[in-house]
Amino acid sequence: MGWANCGTDSKGRPIGYGFPATCDHPDCKTKIDRGLSYACGDMHGDLDLACEGYFCTAHLKHTLPVDGDDKQVCEACYKAAKKYATENPEDAHDLVAWFEDQEGEDWRVQT
Ligand SMILES: [Zn+2]
Ligand SMILES: [Zn+2]
Repeated sequence: MGWANCGTDSKGRPIGYGFPATCDHPDCKTKIDRGLSYACGDMHGDLDLACEGYFCTAHLKHTLPVDGDDKQVCEACYKAAKKYATENPEDAHDLVAWFEDQEGEDWRVQT
Protein backbone atom coordinates (compact mmCIF):
# COMPACT_ATOMS: atom_id res chain seq x y z
CA MET A 1 0.00 0.00 0.00
CA GLY A 2 1.01 3.57 -0.38
CA TRP A 3 0.49 6.60 -2.47
CA ALA A 4 2.45 5.52 -5.52
CA ASN A 5 -0.71 5.18 -7.55
CA CYS A 6 -3.77 7.20 -6.52
CA GLY A 7 -5.85 6.77 -9.65
CA THR A 8 -6.44 9.69 -11.96
CA ASP A 9 -7.50 13.29 -11.56
CA SER A 10 -10.51 14.82 -13.32
CA LYS A 11 -8.39 15.43 -16.42
CA GLY A 12 -7.50 11.76 -16.58
CA ARG A 13 -3.90 12.26 -15.51
CA PRO A 14 -2.47 9.54 -13.33
CA ILE A 15 -1.63 10.74 -9.84
CA GLY A 16 0.71 9.40 -7.20
CA TYR A 17 4.43 9.69 -6.61
CA GLY A 18 5.12 6.87 -9.02
CA PHE A 19 4.31 9.16 -11.95
CA PRO A 20 6.91 11.55 -13.25
CA ALA A 21 5.59 14.94 -14.32
CA THR A 22 6.65 18.49 -14.96
CA CYS A 23 5.55 21.44 -12.88
CA ASP A 24 2.12 22.78 -13.90
CA HIS A 25 3.22 26.40 -13.62
CA PRO A 26 3.23 28.00 -17.08
CA ASP A 27 6.65 27.67 -18.70
CA CYS A 28 8.19 25.84 -15.77
CA LYS A 29 10.00 22.69 -16.89
CA THR A 30 11.07 21.42 -13.49
CA LYS A 31 10.75 17.66 -13.14
CA ILE A 32 8.54 16.51 -10.29
CA ASP A 33 6.21 13.62 -9.65
CA ARG A 34 2.50 13.58 -8.91
CA GLY A 35 2.95 12.71 -5.26
CA LEU A 36 1.37 14.57 -2.37
CA SER A 37 4.50 16.58 -1.72
CA TYR A 38 4.03 18.39 -5.03
CA ALA A 39 0.23 18.62 -5.01
CA CYS A 40 -1.37 22.02 -4.62
CA GLY A 41 -3.30 21.75 -1.36
CA ASP A 42 -1.49 18.42 -0.78
CA MET A 43 -4.76 16.50 -0.97
CA HIS A 44 -4.93 15.74 -4.67
CA GLY A 45 -7.48 18.43 -5.40
CA ASP A 46 -9.94 17.59 -2.63
CA LEU A 47 -9.81 21.10 -1.33
CA ASP A 48 -11.99 24.06 -2.25
CA LEU A 49 -9.01 26.37 -2.16
CA ALA A 50 -6.70 24.25 -4.24
CA CYS A 51 -6.52 23.24 -7.89
CA GLU A 52 -5.49 19.83 -9.09
CA GLY A 53 -2.11 21.03 -10.14
CA TYR A 54 1.31 19.67 -9.25
CA PHE A 55 4.12 22.13 -8.82
CA CYS A 56 7.81 22.25 -8.08
CA THR A 57 8.84 23.69 -4.72
CA ALA A 58 9.55 27.08 -6.29
CA HIS A 59 5.93 27.32 -7.39
CA LEU A 60 4.33 25.78 -4.35
CA LYS A 61 5.66 28.25 -1.85
CA HIS A 62 2.43 29.75 -0.54
CA THR A 63 0.33 28.35 2.26
CA LEU A 64 -3.32 28.69 3.16
CA PRO A 65 -5.09 27.63 6.33
CA VAL A 66 -7.47 24.75 5.75
CA ASP A 67 -9.32 23.00 8.56
CA GLY A 68 -6.72 24.14 11.04
CA ASP A 69 -3.77 23.01 8.93
CA ASP A 70 -1.45 24.97 6.75
CA LYS A 71 -1.62 23.61 3.23
CA GLN A 72 0.85 24.42 0.52
CA VAL A 73 -0.75 25.90 -2.58
CA CYS A 74 0.32 27.33 -5.90
CA GLU A 75 0.43 31.01 -6.71
CA ALA A 76 -2.82 30.96 -8.71
CA CYS A 77 -4.73 29.43 -5.80
CA TYR A 78 -3.20 31.83 -3.33
CA LYS A 79 -4.31 34.74 -5.51
CA ALA A 80 -7.76 33.21 -5.98
CA ALA A 81 -8.13 32.82 -2.21
CA LYS A 82 -7.09 36.43 -1.74
CA LYS A 83 -9.63 37.59 -4.27
CA TYR A 84 -12.30 35.49 -2.60
CA ALA A 85 -11.46 36.86 0.85
CA THR A 86 -11.43 40.41 -0.50
CA GLU A 87 -14.86 40.02 -2.04
CA ASN A 88 -16.43 37.86 0.67
CA PRO A 89 -14.97 38.99 3.98
CA GLU A 90 -18.08 37.80 5.81
CA ASP A 91 -17.65 34.23 4.61
CA ALA A 92 -13.92 34.12 4.88
CA HIS A 93 -12.96 35.38 8.33
CA ASP A 94 -10.23 32.79 8.66
CA LEU A 95 -8.65 33.77 5.40
CA VAL A 96 -8.94 37.47 6.15
CA ALA A 97 -7.15 36.95 9.45
CA TRP A 98 -4.59 34.76 7.76
CA PHE A 99 -3.73 37.30 5.08
CA GLU A 100 -3.50 40.10 7.62
CA ASP A 101 -1.09 37.96 9.55
CA GLN A 102 0.99 37.15 6.49
CA GLU A 103 1.02 40.48 4.73
CA GLY A 104 -0.34 43.17 7.02
CA GLU A 105 -3.25 45.46 6.29
CA ASP A 106 -2.58 45.85 2.57
CA TRP A 107 -3.20 42.28 1.44
CA ARG A 108 -6.48 42.91 -0.35
CA VAL A 109 -6.53 42.69 -4.12
CA GLN A 110 -7.73 45.68 -6.08
CA THR A 111 -10.96 45.00 -7.87
ZN1 LIG B 1 -3.29 25.52 -7.12
ZN1 LIG C 1 7.70 25.15 -11.17
